[in-house]
Amino acid sequence: MHELSLALNVLELVQEECLKAEAVHVAELVITAGTLSGVDEEALTACLVIAAKGTVLENARIIISRKTGTGFCTNCRSTFPMEDILTLCPECHQAPSRLLDGQDLQVESLMVE
Ligand SMILES: [Zn+2]
Repeated sequence: MHELSLALNVLELVQEECLKAEAVHVAELVITAGTLSGVDEEALTACLVIAAKGTVLENARIIISRKTGTGFCTNCRSTFPMEDILTLCPECHQAPSRLLDGQDLQVESLMVE
């Protein structure tokens, strides 16, 4: 159900943008999801397709791209890329003490007609 509420948030944002741009239809929507956001891309796409019915987003091309997250290890003070939430520090194999990036979901671009 996490993806459905995210899809509704995205839809709301898209509708606001379309209103501002006086657009009647979205041709393409690009979303960036961090690898630490816990978002299931397939589920999110499916939810967006359902939520889009009868809105400006209906029949839009939906593209979800991944953005690699970043972790920080306070043990050895290294910063490293994290492909998922279980990635350990490559230097000392500790769990990262801090997540610096990759937990968010962003509307990257919107192509309207
Ligand atoms: Zn470390």
